[in-house]
Amino acid sequence: MIAKNIESVNQRIADAAARSGRRVSDITLIGVSKTVDAARVQSAVDAGVINLGENRVQELTAKYDEVKGASWHLIGHLQTNKVKYIIGKTELIHSVDSIRLMDEIERCSAAKNVVTDFLLQINVSGEESKFGVAPSDAVRLAEYAANLKHCRLLGLMTVPPPVVNPSANKKFFDKLFEISVDIRAKNYDNISMGILSMGMSGDFEAAIECGSTMVRVGSAIFGKRDYIN
Ligand SMILES: *Cc1c(COP(=O)(O)O)cnc(C)c1O
Repeated sequence: MIAKNIESVNQRIADAAARSGRRVSDITLIGVSKTVDAARVQSAVDAGVINLGENRVQELTAKYDEVKGASWHLIGHLQTNKVKYIIGKTELIHSVDSIRLMDEIERCSAAKNVVTDFLLQINVSGEESKFGVAPSDAVRLAEYAANLKHCRLLGLMTVPPPVVNPSANKKFFDKLFEISVDIRAKNYDNISMGILSMGMSGDFEAAIECGSTMVRVGSAIFGKRDYIN
């Protein structure tokens, strides 16, 4: 079941890339494994989804030990006091949204003598309940990131509202793309805008058409989650 779902998601990614004149190799599939038990997550890795996303630190570190052959992405809100548990275990942190959090990632990464790659999460839809940097603050935070020695800003991430019609989110995906263009134009040292993490099960094709380079897909791979996480 999981292998079949992955095949279908990969085909849909390839079709969306073809439609928008993009190379499929420029798009990375992140399997969102939150709430999914380690054995089922392992079957996704064995079927080729080696990049996995979790939104809780404790769940990520538990599966980090249990699942073999995966690279781990933290995609959910990160509290400053939990940073120390994940440094050295992540391929990419997608959800950085404050200077305080950048400072703590820098401090813990320096202590472990590693470089931690991250994205700035931008609240493009402006929903009050959402985490993320306001679009008007994005350039300021990117400028700050350029001075960090043990972490590296590689792009932007966003989580738009769930919608029935996926193309309704295209305005938010376009906005994230525009913010990345604005930041790139500043030519800051030591940062890149190569990654745009946008698109989930309900809207990843629309996101690819708008320039996404990383899609975070949970339920279309693992099935519907029985509880909210
Ligand atoms: C849960 C989650 C996803 C995946 O959601 P699906 O709709 O199941 O694909 C992607 N991104 C974030 C930040 C999430 O929390």
